[in-house]
Amino acid sequence: MFAVPGWSLESAALKQQSQPAQAKNESQPTDDSATPNGKNKDKKRKRENVTSGNVNEMYRKHIEGQAEKPWNKKKQEKQAAAAAAAAAAAAAASTASPKADKGEVKNGAADSVQEEGQGKKKRQRKNKNKKDNDAEEKADGAAPAQPAASATSSLAAPPTTNATLTPLQQAMRQKLISSRFRHLNETLYTTDSSKAVELFNANPELFDEYHAGFSRQVKESWPSNPVDGYIQAVRRRGAVPVPKRGKPDPNKPQPLPRRPNGVCNIADLGCGDAALARNLTPSAKKLNLKLNSYDLQSPDPLITKADISKLPVEDGSMDVSIFCLSLMGTNWVSFVEEAWRVLRSDGKGECWVSEVKSRFGKVTRKKSMIGAQKPLSKTQQKKQKKSKKDEDEIDEEDIFAEDARPAADDDETDISAFVEVFRTRGFVLRPESVDKSNKMFVKMEFVKQGGAPIKGKHATGLSAPVTGGKKRFVDRKPASDNGMTAEQEAQALKPCVYKIR
Ligand code: SAH
Repeated sequence: MFAVPGWSLESAALKQQSQPAQAKNESQPTDDSATPNGKNKDKKRKRENVTSGNVNEMYRKHIEGQAEKPWNKKKQEKQAAAAAAAAAAAAAASTASPKADKGEVKNGAADSVQEEGQGKKKRQRKNKNKKDNDAEEKADGAAPAQPAASATSSLAAPPTTNATLTPLQQAMRQKLISSRFRHLNETLYTTDSSKAVELFNANPELFDEYHAGFSRQVKESWPSNPVDGYIQAVRRRGAVPVPKRGKPDPNKPQPLPRRPNGVCNIADLGCGDAALARNLTPSAKKLNLKLNSYDLQSPDPLITKADISKLPVEDGSMDVSIFCLSLMGTNWVSFVEEAWRVLRSDGKGECWVSEVKSRFGKVTRKKSMIGAQKPLSKTQQKKQKKSKKDEDEIDEEDIFAEDARPAADDDETDISAFVEVFRTRGFVLRPESVDKSNKMFVKMEFVKQGGAPIKGKHATGLSAPVTGGKKRFVDRKPASDNGMTAEQEAQALKPCVYKIR
């Protein structure tokens, strides 16, 4: 965009700039003595003003010219380090105060990440073949023109690169990508899903960036991936025929709930890159499955773009709903209500949930759900101290690091408040399904009860009848409100945030 054919700079005549490049909207550096004729024009330069008429020329002279200088590499690497530190600080800031992020993800440090990305791209250009330059310049030229004012622009993706980076540059780039992933992840956890929709609509490329970071953490730091367990469960249970008469054998895997025509409709809510549908599609016909996958973007025809708090799905049309690590927004309770709406109403619709353990409270630290905190015993205090120490020793680089410590034998993950939210939204927990064996995740399954929920969007004001389901899945307690405020309910799942020291 700023390249002018025929304009050339004699590199031997250039002198290193002694100060970092200024922010893009400020006056351009005044100490750059680089001129086409090699004369020192410092004094004259200081009087140069940037106007809308000369901004292109000034950019070309001071920024592009400066970026071409090979001897500026060290300084630029320093700037990269500073930007990476700023990005890490941004993630830390949003960790310390998630509310600061609510509804507004604009952030100076993230901006500097973007600027760093632009600077890096220019650096990389010097390593590229000349024939690549035209295409590069086009992409490059667009970047400085991006408005910095919108709430989402600060999260715009850094430019991708094919250039060979030095090991230091690679390390810096990786750090930036990790920091940006953490920041995006925290944004999804600490905002209402309507904001997430806005964010991804304004910056569709963020979805790919998010999933690249997500896949990286799955590969590098997870003991196993819960979605794999669901793929196996669907295969296993999908192969079990529904008995023509009588009950299924309780000692064998249970058949999947099926429609009268034999189909099992599965809704993967917050499907990510649709690993479940991709892996099961080849056997979908044989297993008589209909796979429906929903997420905030649809980079793949398998995925339907939708906010899972408002699904484009008819009432009662699904047999199984899956939330695999996807109860992310501050309004996650409305996702649960939506899952209830779309599931069949005959007491056989199932909702499978996997979540990160650290999002739940710990039994030993549990404040009584409503009411005062019980004083801790000496042993409990010791345990709490140890667990705090363990947390403090976690490597800041680990994504989801808080969860990467070994599972204690006596797992203290307290799912009671979470289960209460589901109960009052018309679901009954299958107690035998609760699986805390994985050190990072907890899994459980609910069954949609017959009758209306006693709380939330679909509550009718009438107490839900405790009938309609298989007796063994029915909660025998009289249906009662959980007494939790909306805020307490939302807190039943804490946002996944990261510690940066
Ligand atoms: N279930 C997938 C992806 C988990 S990551 C897997 O296990 O591999 C969590 C996913 O939930 C992300 O893809 C995110 O975009 C999605 N998500 C979070 N909130 C959402 C919402 N309100 N609507 C749709 N998808 C959502």
